[in-house]
Amino acid sequence: MENKPSSNFLKNIVNEDLKSGKVDHIITRFPPEPNGYLHIGHAKSIILNFELADEFKGKTNLRFDDTNPVKEDTEYVESIKEDVLWLGYEWDNLFFASDYFEEMYNRAVLLIKKGMAYVCDSTAEEIRKMRGSLIEVGQKSPYRDRSAEENLSLFERMRKGEFKDGQKVLRAKIDMASPNINMRDPVLYRIAHATHHNTGDKWCIYPMYDFAHPLEDAIEGVTHSICTMEFEDHRPLYDWVIRECEMEEIPHQYEFARLNITNTVMSKRKLKQLVDEHVVDGWDDPRMPTISGLRRRGYTPEAIRSFAREIGVAKADSVVDSKMLEFFIREDLKLKAPRTMAVLEPLKVVITNYPEDQVEMLEAEINSENPEMGTRQIPFSREIYIEQDDFMENPPAKYFRLFPGNEVRLKNAYFIKCNNIVKDQSGKVIELHCTYDPETRSGSGFTGRKVKGTIHWVNAAQAVSAEFRLYEPLILDQDEDDESSFIEHINPQSLEIVQGFVEPNIKGSKPQDKFQFFRHGYFNVDPISSKQEKLVFNRIVSLKSSFQLTK
Ligand code: ATP
Ligand code: MG
Repeated sequence: MENKPSSNFLKNIVNEDLKSGKVDHIITRFPPEPNGYLHIGHAKSIILNFELADEFKGKTNLRFDDTNPVKEDTEYVESIKEDVLWLGYEWDNLFFASDYFEEMYNRAVLLIKKGMAYVCDSTAEEIRKMRGSLIEVGQKSPYRDRSAEENLSLFERMRKGEFKDGQKVLRAKIDMASPNINMRDPVLYRIAHATHHNTGDKWCIYPMYDFAHPLEDAIEGVTHSICTMEFEDHRPLYDWVIRECEMEEIPHQYEFARLNITNTVMSKRKLKQLVDEHVVDGWDDPRMPTISGLRRRGYTPEAIRSFAREIGVAKADSVVDSKMLEFFIREDLKLKAPRTMAVLEPLKVVITNYPEDQVEMLEAEINSENPEMGTRQIPFSREIYIEQDDFMENPPAKYFRLFPGNEVRLKNAYFIKCNNIVKDQSGKVIELHCTYDPETRSGSGFTGRKVKGTIHWVNAAQAVSAEFRLYEPLILDQDEDDESSFIEHINPQSLEIVQGFVEPNIKGSKPQDKFQFFRHGYFNVDPISSKQEKLVFNRIVSLKSSFQLTK
């Protein structure tokens, strides 16, 4: 069951703005740059923007902030749309910042005419050096006092492609002595001779984020423009652009703390590096914190939404324990996922006193916590598989599973007792010979004696072979003062693949079907690798967390 959206400071702001008459409607936007796949941090922003507007009967735009042609691609546009829809949100409008390039250009011309922007020939390096620091004012560019006519002509020639990349930029003329470095004549436009995924070769000058973003918001009539804390110091520039470009609609920027999760990298740049360097199989590798990776792993939109609501929205930075995300997928699947038995690392057991050609059907609930899901039939006969580590030849004290002479309960079936061990030449145990007690059948009400261990099994004749992919965190935790690259903290054991068996009743499983395998956790049928002849399961999450989250 999903939790309800909770209150947060942004809702209070919107409420106040509506009450005071500052606005009479709400428009929010989710503005991804199509330069990578969305991750769980973006999910927080999506859920926040859509639910905020929804609560006040407003609208939310999906807007691609596609102002940097070099890194952007339609593959990313498509994946982002798919992910937002999958999370359960439908945008009211789909926009591309690149559709506003002409208007942005005209607004830049307006700034030039007002003497508030100029073309600067300094190199990127010179501009950076002359910007000053927190304790040092910046130096004025030698090109700062060019006339409006000269600037207009140069800017037009920049657009026409007369200059090379980096040769000239357009800068706002604000204040080189401002205590806020963002206000020290920031660059508004740069030259990039690159093909844009949407506008092709029409443009060779592109607006910078700080200039483009406020204009995009204003053009769309966005009322509350919500971004992460690192843009707080950019807000004066945001307001400057809106004011000096004489935009009719006036949006306001509000910041919240970005989502961080323990042992999880969450920057598109780093995630792209993992993909490009083949550390993972792609953006949708089930170990990735991308929406597509989580989806393939078996996470549900319900679980992600509940997680996002639980962590809430605040201004203070924090790191959320990855166990919390796991908690919500368990919660979501607890009553939904059919339960079944799977043997991940099989060991054959022959029940020597069971009739050779007999097969009986045992009945068990599909989900013991949700009886409405009904029952399933489980075949049982002379040969079964159990888990290799449910047997020990020389067990330590308090080992209650199978060992020579010990009796255990087979889940949903009978008690069995181990009598003999068969080993191969290397001394490895390859088969157990057990006897069963027909009196002890599950559900028969047998109370004659008790056993301490219950183990799961799959009937050998009907067992469906399957591959299981077991995941651990991709990145090991790093101390805060550890400066080494995250690449050095990749967990070499993030994926383990084993070959085993599942119960025959899940033979026809389809991609994305989810199960709880007794004692092993929740699993998802992999949507890409799984085939009817060979099922492949991703472990979404174990029943209890097995991983130490901090070193
Ligand atoms: P990254 O830093 O991972 O590359 P980004 O901020 O550059 O992400 P954008 O495509 O610009 O990615 O982000 C779209 C929206 O998602 C922005 O409003 C941004 O603030 C928000 N966002 C990105 N990362 C997070 C996060 N970890 N938590 C919350 N919101 C985020
Ligand atoms: Mg960004």
